[in-house]
Amino acid sequence: MSKRQFKAESKKLLDLMINSIYTNKEIFLRELISNANDALDKLAYEALTNRKLKVDKKKLGIKLSVDKEKRLLTISDNGIGMDKEELSENLGTIAKSGSLAFKEALDKKDKTNIIGQFGVGFYSSFMVADKVTVESKKAGSSEAYKWVSTGADGYEITSCDKEMTGTTITLHIKENENEENYDDYLEEFKIQGLIKKYSDYVTYPIKMDTVDEETKKVTETDAINSMVPLWKKNKKKIKDEEYNSFYQDKFFDYTKPLKVIHTNVEGLVSYDALLFIPANPPYDFYTKEYKKGLELYSNGVLIMEKCEDLLPDYLNFVKGVVDSPDLSLNISREMLQQNRQLKVIAKNIEKKVLKELQSMLENDRENYEAFFKTFGVNIKYGVYDNYGAKKDELKDLIIFYSSKEKKNVTLKEYVSRMNDGEDTIYYACGETIDKIDMLPQVESLKDNEKEVLYLTDYVDEFVLKMLDKYEDKKFVNVSSNDFDLSSDEEKEKLNKKNEEEKEMFDFMKECLDNEVAQIRYTNKLKNHPICLTSEGEVTVEMQKVINAMPTDEHIDAKLVLEINESHDIADKIKDLYENDKETLKKYTKILYNEARLIEGLPVSNPTELSNLVCDLLSK
Ligand code: ADP
Repeated sequence: MSKRQFKAESKKLLDLMINSIYTNKEIFLRELISNANDALDKLAYEALTNRKLKVDKKKLGIKLSVDKEKRLLTISDNGIGMDKEELSENLGTIAKSGSLAFKEALDKKDKTNIIGQFGVGFYSSFMVADKVTVESKKAGSSEAYKWVSTGADGYEITSCDKEMTGTTITLHIKENENEENYDDYLEEFKIQGLIKKYSDYVTYPIKMDTVDEETKKVTETDAINSMVPLWKKNKKKIKDEEYNSFYQDKFFDYTKPLKVIHTNVEGLVSYDALLFIPANPPYDFYTKEYKKGLELYSNGVLIMEKCEDLLPDYLNFVKGVVDSPDLSLNISREMLQQNRQLKVIAKNIEKKVLKELQSMLENDRENYEAFFKTFGVNIKYGVYDNYGAKKDELKDLIIFYSSKEKKNVTLKEYVSRMNDGEDTIYYACGETIDKIDMLPQVESLKDNEKEVLYLTDYVDEFVLKMLDKYEDKKFVNVSSNDFDLSSDEEKEKLNKKNEEEKEMFDFMKECLDNEVAQIRYTNKLKNHPICLTSEGEVTVEMQKVINAMPTDEHIDAKLVLEINESHDIADKIKDLYENDKETLKKYTKILYNEARLIEGLPVSNPTELSNLVCDLLSK
């Protein structure tokens, strides 16, 4: 029998496989098992309508064995099988889905770049084998054929004897060379490991013949794969422990997940998703190495270990698996990004996670607080990421500490407590709740029965700026200088006083080398003598955050030193201005630095400050 040649395109692909630059050679097994799985599915389907086919569904399966001495790895299935024409057509031509996609990409791009991204079906066996034999008997037929190829020089098809219907593929495994250890593919435990890794949820049992080294006795293993993936099981029949141990095994976490989200969707795009919100951040969460993503399966066969496109950045902490029969197994990363079904799934997953978080917030507040403590910053990041594209979806998931409730509240809850006609949501920034609580500006608000949100996270103020408003209520930082609760009449009176003392304040400003934009009296402080606020867009808090970033970015808030006009210190200043300007200079420096300390800003010259204070103390 003469040798047949591969079709030109197939030859090109085959060449690549033989001289493989593909580092992930082990996926050949996934490809062959997936083909076997398809062949079994096809037979089961045929048998529904073709009565002549006698199929015992319980006996359908995949069987592997190795012969170390002869260097053979065999993969058998009792599926649909192939006749002579099909052997030639299917294994001599690239006409099929995945392989075709591969070829198309191949025509366009640099080979080395794309080869790592594809599952390439049957030909991938040539990455590890120098000779491949396929024996097959088509269901319903009595004849069997054998396809043999050593690679690029073509293939031969001859008749053969084969008892069972189905296909047996025998790989003659290459000898080790250089870095590459092909012997691995003759190790039973290695093969079993690969089955677990890539084909665990194939729906037919994958068994293996194992040989006892001493007695040479052959025994058949039980199914190595677990077959029914947890995500395909009926939700009602799954116990919490099952979810938990699945999560812990798969994602290497000692702790139980905070939340399990299991959904089965059927429709235009069908998929099962089993998602987890971890209780703690993954160990490498804050490193550059951390990559978001969900495991992606097509009918129980792993396509990708980390499909990034399934999660928006701000949900990067979500773990889980997605399985959709609508995705082809041999789909490249690049093509996945364009894939319409995948986009639909990703969108649904995002919605689903947000819905679950919302319901957790409403019905299981304690857990939500725990979640927010760990991943709240992600949600906040989601608000201002992409110029606030997601802010409407996320604004109700944010919680801040409230001065009134003494616990975390949502913006909705804050607004629900507002009186008619009120239009302002007050907030104050600082390092800790306690420190904010002691801010002079906050005291008078509390006295006025106003609710103040305490922002302790460095991103918080940016989040509010991005939201701009909540239900038409504006956000006001109590540390901005135009914040003033007093009546118009009182304001007028104060303005007049400030006018009158303009000269004095200018003198004091000069004492501070004009480090502050303004010095003035205020009536927003009750018992406290002074406070530091800012005018304009940049607040003191923003200045702190931005200047702490490891970039060259540097901004300065326009500082305003406010002095309580009903405090004794106001009289003292005035007195000094009239009688002892030299001492006023010292006073001004002390007051300004005290105000900086209260705001959590550094004192530029602590020695000078200390000397000034000691000076006064010793008088
Ligand atoms: P793909 O799986 O993407 O179609 P492959 O190169 O892996 O491409 O396989 C080509 C074709 O060969 C398959 O579509 C199938 O028709 C046939 N085939 C491969 N393996 C088997 C098998 N074990 N049993 C029956 N047919 C098979």
